[in-house]
Amino acid sequence: MIQVLKPKFHVEECLEQIRDCLEKGWTGMGYKTVEFENAWKAYTGHRNALFLNSNTAGLYMALQIMKMEYGWQDGDEVITTPITFISTNHAIPKNGLKACFADVDEYLCLDPEDVERKISDRTRAVMFVGYGGRVGQLEKMIRLCQEHGLKLILDAAHMSGTKVNGVCPGTWDGVEAAVYSYQAVKNLATADSGMICFARDELDAIARKISWLGINKDTYARSDMKQGTYKWNYDVEYIGQKDNGNSIMAAIALAQLPYLDEENEYRRKLVRRYDELLKDDPKIRIVYAPYADECSYHIYEIAVPDREALLSALAAQEIFGGVHYRDNTEYRMYAYAHGMTPKAHWYSDHIITLPLNLWIDLDDVERIADIVKQEVQRQGELPEM
Ligand SMILES: *Cc1c(COP(=O)(O)O)cnc(C)c1O
Repeated sequence: MIQVLKPKFHVEECLEQIRDCLEKGWTGMGYKTVEFENAWKAYTGHRNALFLNSNTAGLYMALQIMKMEYGWQDGDEVITTPITFISTNHAIPKNGLKACFADVDEYLCLDPEDVERKISDRTRAVMFVGYGGRVGQLEKMIRLCQEHGLKLILDAAHMSGTKVNGVCPGTWDGVEAAVYSYQAVKNLATADSGMICFARDELDAIARKISWLGINKDTYARSDMKQGTYKWNYDVEYIGQKDNGNSIMAAIALAQLPYLDEENEYRRKLVRRYDELLKDDPKIRIVYAPYADECSYHIYEIAVPDREALLSALAAQEIFGGVHYRDNTEYRMYAYAHGMTPKAHWYSDHIITLPLNLWIDLDDVERIADIVKQEVQRQGELPEM
């Protein structure tokens, strides 16, 4: 059986790191979470990194803190993509802001031209998803945001390890916050955790309090050094939430991180083979990546005439594809925007995610590509977008 996504854990190293936590009697926030924040900063070049229990929590917090800091009002607008996991978009209305949808480009990332058309005098920010690990037209989007005084939040859930000329795009000037996911099937898998990396130290400092109920941890940390005598003596500065990560998750992340680059390189090797085998078929549209030789390739997608039939043909051979993701405006909660993003609708009807993980090899890719080509031959034409 071949699954679409399947994490690979370096079990002995993970257990060793977890053992440290158990023996020390420290499984919560601090200890390994601090170690992993430092390791992530060293690996990515981010100046700030706050370890959280999920990317979802980080996206919510990014907008929550910016709304407070920059004085945004309820009903102010954030331009976002319809092709993403629902976490990206829920962060907006949960903060009392309005999600305005712009269309995607051929990389399935936000299209700067359509974003520009959707800017109003209430627009405050853009949520950009580095979809599948691809940077899409992020550079252009940053320039657009700068011209219009908008903040840019990067949902980097798929982007662990993505680089452009050796640099992590989340660290580019003009990205106000980059939010990573280390959820169970992401490139750097733990079970559930994430990281928020603010460009500004001030926002990182607020996030450290807000992610822990608003408790002023500076006081806490100072008191802690006096053997806990003054542990009760902290202040609460915000109505925060409990979004902090823990040492068990950080332990797994610390064990996995040293393998991230070589594992992403292996993904790219599989992707290059898929590309070679599928590229000349007029019924198949590959979703390519700019800077493909430095892309994390969290997922590999193609568009075909009849996606459901292809999923079935693969499943008949015990090969399981997926769909990442449906156009979010097809969901009841965002139906108000349905019809405004035609390319996203088109992709939503035709994309399929083919298996791409560290458990398959080039022979598997060839077998899968064969099934894809045979099945697609039986199908009609790929409709116009
Ligand atoms: C997985 C994912 C998230 C959510 O990440 P969690 O760590 O599970 O909260 C957000 N956005 C995208 C694009 C994702 O794929």
